[in-house]
Amino acid sequence: MGGTRWLMMLCLTASVALTSARPDGDVVKAEVEPEAESEASPTQDKEDDKVSYQGAQVIQIDTQTAKDVLDSILEKGEIEEWGRNKTHVDLYLPSKSTGSIKSLLMSKNISYSVMIEDVQRAIDVENVVETEAEDEFAGRKGHKMNWKSYHSLSDIYGYLDYLADTYPSQVKVGSVGKSAEGRPIKYIVISSGNPGAKRFWIDGGIHAREWISPATVTYIISELVENRDSYKDFASDIDFYVVPVINPDGYEYTRSSQRLWRKNRSKGNYFCPGVDLNRNWGYNWGGLGTSNENCREIYRGTGPFSEPETRAVSNFILQNKDNMKGFITFHSYGQYILLPYGHNYNSYPPDFKEMERIGRKAALAIKSVSGATYQVGNSAKLLYPASGGSDDWAKGIAGIKYAYTIELRDQGTYGFTLPAHYIIPTAQEAMAAVKTVARAVQES
Ligand SMILES: [Zn+2]
Repeated sequence: MGGTRWLMMLCLTASVALTSARPDGDVVKAEVEPEAESEASPTQDKEDDKVSYQGAQVIQIDTQTAKDVLDSILEKGEIEEWGRNKTHVDLYLPSKSTGSIKSLLMSKNISYSVMIEDVQRAIDVENVVETEAEDEFAGRKGHKMNWKSYHSLSDIYGYLDYLADTYPSQVKVGSVGKSAEGRPIKYIVISSGNPGAKRFWIDGGIHAREWISPATVTYIISELVENRDSYKDFASDIDFYVVPVINPDGYEYTRSSQRLWRKNRSKGNYFCPGVDLNRNWGYNWGGLGTSNENCREIYRGTGPFSEPETRAVSNFILQNKDNMKGFITFHSYGQYILLPYGHNYNSYPPDFKEMERIGRKAALAIKSVSGATYQVGNSAKLLYPASGGSDDWAKGIAGIKYAYTIELRDQGTYGFTLPAHYIIPTAQEAMAAVKTVARAVQES
């Protein structure tokens, strides 16, 4: 393993490259690597083989004043843009670059503030050790999920199986197919019991490091199944099709080895494995905001649906697309409700206004739950263009009326290392958005 890591490090060091940005909140402009990866050496490998992000930082600079400098430092490929909003851009600095980048900014008279002082420290404290978080009834209740911590894939899948055993007339659990490394990609269908029901798709975990996404989607599942009475007004009219972890290999890899991994784990390139699964869908594949270089975070793959995960999920959606009127894919971070199309600045579905109207209602519903602000708009305009995303395909090919990408919390405090105690408030906001879209689906 050490040897592999060493080779990988050489490659990454040699081949980092800049990229254009992407609009899913975790906007990436420079492909980075993982300083962690580039600094790891066989002798530094820890017992558990985890990459360390010690000394890496995330800083914020003003979105407007820094544009020229920002473009030039991102072009060097040393650092990564984690996210941005109207006021600030969040930049991830590998430990080896913190000094030089800060000096550069100072020499240009650009002020910055430190968002995360030590990324490894943020990772160390983001999750509660699961045994501590387990409540005393964990054994008796038949599953391990508690939404107080980020859980393993096995806990998540165990919960789906538990629901299938406990609510056999209401839910069905299966696999849409296998991941690159052979893990099942499990789905749950939550049935209304109504043969004329509309269908509503929900997924999470397409980007591995966005842990809040599978945590939120499993919470939504628990609400729709175990707290069903609270959703009587639409639950008897809609069947929910839900995949909580589209990228199970990547998710497990972020837990075992490299916390900030984003792509899947396909072995197309030995030195730079993985494809960005949200650039791999077959609608305007290969356009703006994607890359044909394996080592880039927004690497699109060798062709549309080149990856087993996107193939399996898209085929499953197509098999069930009759009457499917709702689609939400959950990402982080930035707090956005994004509408198709994201592949360029001037493409709108004909019913964009109606999608936008419901998106704004969802944002208001979120605000009334927690006070949090979610911005609504076309992803290319609000952030950056990105092609080959699942929401564009859902709208443009599968023909799903209300299709959204939702970027969950936060707006640039913890970023991808959102502490676990934010799971429940974040998931409650997401549930408010699901309820709003569900009512639109019901009436459609
Ligand atoms: Zn994402």
